[in-house]
Amino acid sequence: MSVKKIAVLTSGGDAPGMNAAIRSVVRTCAYHNIEVVGVYRGYQGMIEGDFEEMNARSVRDIINRGGTILKSARSKDFKTPEGRKAAYEKLKAAGVDSLVVIGGDGSFTGALLFNKEFGFPVMGIPGTIDNDIYGTDFTLGYDTALNTVIEAIDKIRDTASSHNRLFFIEVMGRDAGHIALNSGVGAGAEEILIPEENIGLKKLLESLEKSRRTGKTSSLVVVAEGDKIGKNVFELKEYVEQHHPDYDVRVSVLGHMQRGGAPSCFDRVLASRMGVKAVESLLEGKSNYMVGIRNNKMELTPLEKAIKGSSKIDTELLRVAEIMAT
Ligand code: ADP
Repeated sequence: MSVKKIAVLTSGGDAPGMNAAIRSVVRTCAYHNIEVVGVYRGYQGMIEGDFEEMNARSVRDIINRGGTILKSARSKDFKTPEGRKAAYEKLKAAGVDSLVVIGGDGSFTGALLFNKEFGFPVMGIPGTIDNDIYGTDFTLGYDTALNTVIEAIDKIRDTASSHNRLFFIEVMGRDAGHIALNSGVGAGAEEILIPEENIGLKKLLESLEKSRRTGKTSSLVVVAEGDKIGKNVFELKEYVEQHHPDYDVRVSVLGHMQRGGAPSCFDRVLASRMGVKAVESLLEGKSNYMVGIRNNKMELTPLEKAIKGSSKIDTELLRVAEIMAT
């Protein structure tokens, strides 16, 4: 089957660089003289036929913008066979024959199911700030989020050291500690708490005490949302205050700011490369893959593997973090 018209959508959690990826998909289609439509609001828009024909000029001035111009959504309807059937009918009616999905694990699961049921060619681009997808060294938005986080932590450091305070800074990462580990090293945190490693409260206290004994007057501890020590960062604060009433503990939850902002140069370049690879792979007749970057080369990973596999935490970097906290 020859590819004539591609649809592109963004789905699940948004991430900086999604716009740059949309731009790349649209321009690559224009370059190869293929039609392209943007689907608004992810799979929900696909079910409702919320499409817009796009061309190279539709995506001007968006490479630098955070968020996604196509909007993202979580669609319950797409999880039902009836919903997916309705989406298929809408794509067919619009003359679309292939689909590029920019999103995370959940979005890829939906895409794979859609392909299984209707034989519809699909290609995934990993867009999530968490960097928790197997088959790519970096997901879109991760680098930008790291830069946002270290900028915020740098500011917290200024106030922490002015008052001899201990700060617990919660960053995103429910299941994966990539953001915490990398931003923690980048911002010079004393301790980094991630879901993959449970150092335990006792060791945390010992480590903080050791820092104090060796002359540190303030401390920053970066905590991933999914860290296993406490139920949340406020409980950590309570625990430390109970055991060390002399500590002046503060908590800062960075929250959704980590998803926003203009994408970094790295994410813009990555998005541009991924968009080209996604469209050209569809043109080569490939389907059910996720585009990724490994050792600075574009690579395809079967969607099934990308969904099932897990991205491992960098143990060498964990060691570096430990040494840096000396
Ligand atoms: P992410 O893609 O960032 O992991 P979600 O897990 O919220 O985000 O998934 C995005 C959307 O993908 C969901 O709202 C739903 O429409 C679709 N989706 C997720 N899981 C499935 C599934 N098991 N079957 C069909 N569609 C799914």
